[in-house]
Amino acid sequence: MNVLLIGSGGREHALAWKLSQSPLCETLYCAPGNAGTAEVAETVVLDVADHRAVIDFCRVTAIGLVVVGNEAPLVAGLVDDLAAAGIKAFGPTREAARLEGSKAFTKAICDETGAPTADYARFDAAEPALAYVRSRGAPIVVKYDGLAAGKGVVVATTLAQAEEAVRAMLAEPGDALVIEDFLEGEEVSLFALCDGTTALPLASAQDHKRAFDGDTGPNTGGMGAYSPAPVLTPALQARAMAEIVEPTLAAMRARGTAFVGVLYAGLMIGADGPKLVEYNVRFGDPEAQVLMPRLDGDLLAAMLAACEGRLDEVSLGWRDEVALVVTLAANGYPGAVEKGSEIRGLDRASALPGVRVFHAGTKRDGERLLAAGGRVLSVVGTGADVAQARERAYAGVDAVDWPDGFCRRDIGWRALAR
Ligand code: ATP
Repeated sequence: MNVLLIGSGGREHALAWKLSQSPLCETLYCAPGNAGTAEVAETVVLDVADHRAVIDFCRVTAIGLVVVGNEAPLVAGLVDDLAAAGIKAFGPTREAARLEGSKAFTKAICDETGAPTADYARFDAAEPALAYVRSRGAPIVVKYDGLAAGKGVVVATTLAQAEEAVRAMLAEPGDALVIEDFLEGEEVSLFALCDGTTALPLASAQDHKRAFDGDTGPNTGGMGAYSPAPVLTPALQARAMAEIVEPTLAAMRARGTAFVGVLYAGLMIGADGPKLVEYNVRFGDPEAQVLMPRLDGDLLAAMLAACEGRLDEVSLGWRDEVALVVTLAANGYPGAVEKGSEIRGLDRASALPGVRVFHAGTKRDGERLLAAGGRVLSVVGTGADVAQARERAYAGVDAVDWPDGFCRRDIGWRALAR
């Protein structure tokens, strides 16, 4: 079968690498892709926002499955339009993608199912929102209700910060926000493959959002991650599936908007067990880069089964090893970065034991590999434990010759400290 993968990050390189290993996969295409996906897939120049163009491409190249890596096309309803054209696509419909697109929607699902989450209220006017913040006190969390690409959340430690956030987020007509109680605990991500009815737990991961060591500096798309996350014991994972993920799936189905795709639950593990912080409706980036090397099974077959409502027939194995990824980003990231500097040494890095390099913002210029974005490479180490995976990942990082990039040096500190 021919497969079209949509996206261009390290996540998509990891997915492309895994999909290309499937015996079911004939030609794998990737749009828009990067220099890494180009090693395992044919790069397609396609405006993904132009659904008509995507449909035409799928018809001409006899695509049997479209896999959508990133959230924007899902929220824009690409899967709906492909389905209407008779083309199979892995990922949620626009309505089901509201689990990521609208914080208030996810909260409403939690109310309906009783899934544990922080107490909250939704507002579209400043005065009642400010009164609510004052009545609850700090710390408190203020979230813009929309797809704000990780920029719409303020964890306020003082009332003044919370009030400022409320005013800033309700500046324009039509703005809305959710205010919720601050949850104590350790954050973890749990990924589940869903076919609308059945949820198959994949694996857990923990990421590092801040740009600099010691979890300081601005928020980023993710500077590193590891899988599995030791805080999510098998018993806690089973509770998260039973109390949060499975009831969500049932509620979505009951609404007539069954969820098909990857449900990524951001959980806070506190004294009384897992609570839902947020949902995403696709794999994480860089979490996919640590999940894929551990996956011992046919990803394409599992995604097809999810699209066909046959996930109860699927079981996937996971290698009993730890994977840890370090993001190499361009100097200045997450702010403005210079593009076009040359990267060397990837062959040397990839030849090291237990090291694999996935590309994010890269492009080829003849033989040369150039930086073409903020997050540029994902260097993954796999090993028997966190310490070994981390040692290998950093050996890989040190083999890369790219003076214009930087990385954090403390990925995995929390797991190592346990
Ligand atoms: P992203 O998808 O980038 O993680 P987002 O915009 O979807 O961000 P959330 O995940 O809801 O927003 O919140 C971002 C971060 O803020 C969380 O990862 C968590 O660290 C913190 N946070 C959110 N809600 C709470 C809460 N109730 N208590 C404590 N921390 C919270």
